[in-house]
Amino acid sequence: MREEPSGLNEEPIGLYLHFPFCLLKCRYCNFPSEAGCEELIEPYLAALFAEMEFYRGLEVRTVYLGGGTPSLLSPRQLEALFEALRRNFSLMPGREETIEINPATGSPSLWEKAREGGINRASIGAQSFSDRILEKLGRLHDSAAVGKTVEDLKKAGIDNFSLDLMYGLPEQTLEDWEETLEAALSLKPKHLSIYGLSIEEGTPFFRDRERLVLPEEETEVAMAEKAEEILSSAGFVHYEIASWALPGFESMHNRIYWRLEPYVGLGTGAHSYFRHQRYQHSPSIRDYLDHPLPLLPEAPLSKREEMEEFVFLGLRMLEEGISKRKFENRFGISLEAVFGKSIARLKERDLILQEGDRIRLNPLHFLLANEVFVEFV
Ligand code: SF4
Repeated sequence: MREEPSGLNEEPIGLYLHFPFCLLKCRYCNFPSEAGCEELIEPYLAALFAEMEFYRGLEVRTVYLGGGTPSLLSPRQLEALFEALRRNFSLMPGREETIEINPATGSPSLWEKAREGGINRASIGAQSFSDRILEKLGRLHDSAAVGKTVEDLKKAGIDNFSLDLMYGLPEQTLEDWEETLEAALSLKPKHLSIYGLSIEEGTPFFRDRERLVLPEEETEVAMAEKAEEILSSAGFVHYEIASWALPGFESMHNRIYWRLEPYVGLGTGAHSYFRHQRYQHSPSIRDYLDHPLPLLPEAPLSKREEMEEFVFLGLRMLEEGISKRKFENRFGISLEAVFGKSIARLKERDLILQEGDRIRLNPLHFLLANEVFVEFV
């Protein structure tokens, strides 16, 4: 029989909870989420609570309630979720607790309940401040709804919030993008997550890809550069490939992923890296209802796999990068001994920088990050 986590002598974890329900699927979305099955929410929560018991006793330093659309939960359901968290985990003081919000959902009473339950950070899926583009994306809210959500969150005492924005969207111009960035900044976020659109198989955008009028590649590059220019002059630090923050407001939870520290993901499609094992739930809600406990892999990651992950995840952090000393302390061998040739090649191409103990992506070429990562796998 497999050994269950006991919490004793265990490093504190980041805890991710996936809530896979949405009002309607956005046209670009291939995340594990479904619309039109609200009757499964209560059984899903019961399954999530059962899975929490499997990890009972672990110490938790961040909680991330993602989706899907967790802001679809009712105040009563959210309260039940917090109770289950308190029952099953040792929640560390000073922890970061984030909820993802779709501005088409939620209410002042939900934000009130969220803050009472420990939520101190919100990640709002704004995506664009152009109503024309939001409609093309199949989003169910307009740009004004983002402002209203921010206002209500602040009234409830949650003023640490991040906005998700997308560029490279159908019919989006450089001017649209600039206006979106300015409108986002006018709401005074502490953090921004910025993604280029990627057309994923199985989505309506993929089906209609021949008809989509997408910006040229050079316009997309200009959009990335525009974000760089506007956000750095507003005091934001581009600290991870897709993430910007005012100093001190970097996402603690996401840093756990990038530093290859332990985390546990509960719910459909959720990933875990725990006790040197990587595993993932099925994306299907019905599968999860049948089997809420994780299927653990037969073997942990090999040392080589962990070294590769440590490097390519760490390099996502544009400021912090990877520390040669930390690598050696963790794996008992120097970074150069394992990846010396790759590092030399990348330095020659000016794609990475070496500054004392630290190796990081050259921020001037962060759009070429994938070329760097393949060197390490
Ligand atoms: S709200 Fe988010 S998870 Fe739900 S369909 Fe839209 S993009 Fe996907």
